[in-house]
Amino acid sequence: MLFEELNLIEPILKALQTEGYTQPTPIQEQSIPTILQGRDLLGCAQTGTGKTAAFAIPMLQLLSKPHTNTKVHKAIKALVLTPTRELAIQIEESFKAYGKNLPIRHLVIFGGVGQKAQTDALNRGVDILVATPGRLLDLMNQGFINLRDIEIFVLDEADRMLDMGFIHDVKKVIAKLPLKRQTLFFSATMPQEIQKLADTILTSPLKVEVTPVSSTAEKIKQEMYFVAKNDKKNLLIHILQDKTIETALVFTRTKHGADRIVKDLIKVGIRAEAIHGNKSQNARQRALTNFKAKTTRILVATDIAARGIDVDELAHVINYELPNIPETYVHRIGRTGRAGLSGTALSFCDAEEKDFLKDIEKLIALKIPVTEDHPYAMSWQSLMSAAAEKPKAKGQGGNPRGQGSRGNGRPSGGGQGGGQREPNLSGAKRTPSSGSRRWSSKGSKPKA
Ligand code: AMP
Repeated sequence: MLFEELNLIEPILKALQTEGYTQPTPIQEQSIPTILQGRDLLGCAQTGTGKTAAFAIPMLQLLSKPHTNTKVHKAIKALVLTPTRELAIQIEESFKAYGKNLPIRHLVIFGGVGQKAQTDALNRGVDILVATPGRLLDLMNQGFINLRDIEIFVLDEADRMLDMGFIHDVKKVIAKLPLKRQTLFFSATMPQEIQKLADTILTSPLKVEVTPVSSTAEKIKQEMYFVAKNDKKNLLIHILQDKTIETALVFTRTKHGADRIVKDLIKVGIRAEAIHGNKSQNARQRALTNFKAKTTRILVATDIAARGIDVDELAHVINYELPNIPETYVHRIGRTGRAGLSGTALSFCDAEEKDFLKDIEKLIALKIPVTEDHPYAMSWQSLMSAAAEKPKAKGQGGNPRGQGSRGNGRPSGGGQGGGQREPNLSGAKRTPSSGSRRWSSKGSKPKA
């Protein structure tokens, strides 16, 4: 199926083309026609399935119909409520990208920053408001926001709202919405309380369920290497001595880090190139072509730059650093093991990254097996103590090489507990991809 078959208006189709999207993802294929009909939707899907575009595209189309009433012209017509600032920013960026050829005004608001810019924008008029619950209620209480003209309400990541203790705030917001509205409800899981909430706020919704991204992770062989930060370089070189690793995509958090790894690898005779935001489009394209042709063995990429990469026969992904957003891990490792081919994802975890690992294992509901058979192995305990010592011995990676690494002694419930996530301040946000990712329509299961 192509986007052209979904009865979308030309300005949206053009914007999708610019994004490099050709085929809708399974959740988009099912949700877009339903939302365009004005029906409620219950989407069981998590980040990575294309769910943002699944609601953003039809919302933009519905809201692009001319509103004759000038009072309504000023009013907020759609509200998207999402738990974190990071998600809120991503969602607004999606509206911006897919709505770039439409005169629709959107705004994102979240806490932790001054409110002046937000209230100024609200005063100028906003059609679609993307918000986190706290700041939304705050500005509602101050009289800057009124929800009485909302036509479409989206509740995003409802289960995470519950985990993060926002559910009461969410209910307060819902109480202020007009009863006559279209509601789109998204949640990765359906605990009882979320199911109850869905039942009370949705009217005969279409249920759409797509296999969570984590199932991709289960198909890929994953290995975790506990290692001191200072040893990561040597560990990478050690791993790449294995000639059966024909090519590998190495992920790093920073552009600078990517360049450094390339230099280190070249020094020991391993052909490597980096792609990141500081490289020109031509340089990136060249590096990618070399990598696909296997004249470059190792491609080192930042998450942002890697988004457009589509390499079919990629057998190895190496996370030189763990991402602080667990979904990013799933996206990264999903680069391998495509089209039924086997894939291996190796990850390095140093003391400072152990919390990221917990979050990742919670998301994929899987404990990643630890590889201890390497010269730089650290046990989970030594990783924990290195982390505890960190504030005292700043910059000291510590190298307990050779230290007993029998049995990693990790707590068995790695990552359990609905701990509050830190907002992502790293800038590692995802924006709509300009890549041409292909989506399989397998694994989607429409209901009722
Ligand atoms: P989401 O699940 O909304 O967080 O989206 C996951 C990623 O997939 C985002 O980076 C989107 O830009 C990208 N994406 C969404 N829909 C498509 C599509 N139809 N084709 C290619 N990429 C897409």
